[in-house]
Amino acid sequence: MKARRPKIIFVTGGVISGIGKGASAASISSLLKSRGYKIFPVKMDPYLNKDAGTMNPYQHGEVFVTDDGAETDLDLGHYERFLNMNLDRYSNFTTGSVYAHVIDLERHGDFLGKTIQIIPHVTDEIKRRIVKPAEDKKADIVVVEIGGTVGDIEEEPFLEAARQLSGECGEENVSFIHVVKIDYVFPSEEEKTKPIQQSVKLLREAGIHPNFLIVRCKQEFDGDIRSKIAMFTNVRPDHIIEAPNASSIYEVPLNFRKKRLDENILKSLRLPVKRLDIALLQRKVRKLRRIAKSVNIGLVGKYVMNPDAYLSVVEAIKHAALAAGVKANIIQVDSEKDNIIGKMKDFDGIVVPGGFGKRGIEGKIKAVKYARENKVPFLGLCLGFQVAVIEYARHVCGLTRANSTEFDPRTPNPAIDIMPSQKNVKDLGGTMRLGAWDMELVKGTKARDLYGKDVVSERHRHRYEVNPEYHDVLEKNGLVFSGWAKDDDRLADMIEIPSHPFFVGTQAHPEFKSRFLVPHPLFVGLLKAAARKK
Ligand code: GLN
Repeated sequence: MKARRPKIIFVTGGVISGIGKGASAASISSLLKSRGYKIFPVKMDPYLNKDAGTMNPYQHGEVFVTDDGAETDLDLGHYERFLNMNLDRYSNFTTGSVYAHVIDLERHGDFLGKTIQIIPHVTDEIKRRIVKPAEDKKADIVVVEIGGTVGDIEEEPFLEAARQLSGECGEENVSFIHVVKIDYVFPSEEEKTKPIQQSVKLLREAGIHPNFLIVRCKQEFDGDIRSKIAMFTNVRPDHIIEAPNASSIYEVPLNFRKKRLDENILKSLRLPVKRLDIALLQRKVRKLRRIAKSVNIGLVGKYVMNPDAYLSVVEAIKHAALAAGVKANIIQVDSEKDNIIGKMKDFDGIVVPGGFGKRGIEGKIKAVKYARENKVPFLGLCLGFQVAVIEYARHVCGLTRANSTEFDPRTPNPAIDIMPSQKNVKDLGGTMRLGAWDMELVKGTKARDLYGKDVVSERHRHRYEVNPEYHDVLEKNGLVFSGWAKDDDRLADMIEIPSHPFFVGTQAHPEFKSRFLVPHPLFVGLLKAAARKK
């Protein structure tokens, strides 16, 4: 039996980078899902790294980890949060991984005698990575976000593969959505459409005619602007969607819906416009608009200059704030440079997120100490959990030089140490303890109460662990281990301090599992405690 062909939506970006292509693609996907279609999102990244795992969050933003342990682009987080579904490694690939695969096949002799070229060998592999998993997953629609900006050299093989697919599948099966922005002339703020015209021209040079334009703008524009864009680009006026800044990104699907974007996409793909079910999203957005009370949450990390470096943590805090009936003001604190104690006084809750390397560690330890001693609600994530253990060992157990061997290989008290399975690992990419692992929660603990079950699955990305030789001394001094890895009972996965209003740390990255519609219990626990403190 012939596999059924999914419809394909390509989302491209023009004019400049960082205009919300990922959030737009995720919003469209969520609307189509809410109309009963099975969606398979794919993000294609034009860089040569094999995956995002080795990239510095300071440069590229957070590395998002899937259940199956892929280290992916942060846009996958948008898709999971908007679609409320778990994705896997097939939803993200890079130019580097495509080339590596094609070259492997060549070495293996698969193309014997042929000259290996970008067209057709690289473009064939790109097309295969879009169509094959979509067919295997029986998706109705693949939403493919093409990373980069139209006009970039790096993006060309992706655009070429997209052009070929539209020719092969037929116009009625493929739709192109181009995300662009209006420019504003200084100082009159007059709206200018020239960059949009030029960006569409570049897309046409690649053989692609956009069916829809999503136009980022400061405010809705008038009919003249729309007609002008339509005239220069040949995109139907009702397919030109204004996308002004929304107060929350979760309003974006509702804005698109009002402009009938989802309906028109389905029509262009000759798919029936099925009933839309977005009541829960609407309710949540309405609640979000009404909230008056706010809490201050300090996020103490070292990649604070890039707002995307802790994207999932920031989103998880916002999701939980809504559940706790408050608005979260998230204040990023630079653990290396800022006066930690001076800043801590303003916070109703403190989060220390994940990270790597020695820089900024002592500042994080100060933040944890402040939270513990002053009974400020605290959540430690991965590195933040390890730092909390070090702080407890130093200041409660009296092991004053306790540290992680990651930061001080010669510490006399290695409370955090490399996992035995990691000792002989040489390559950095894809070699950590990665992906979803089950955790057993201990009865009677805060963690067990919050999750409401005995076994939970959380995602991991680390090489170090609490040194099992220190479990006893930490426990004797009052630290409670509330979760243990199910596959390895030496691995402590969660801690808490019972006498503290909320002091929880986990070796996992619960932020990757938080969704707007389903906030994460640990974050809800933190935000409720912060709201009580206020
Ligand atoms: N650097 C620590 C480790 O490798 C923590 C990692 C993290 O926070 N993701 O174990």
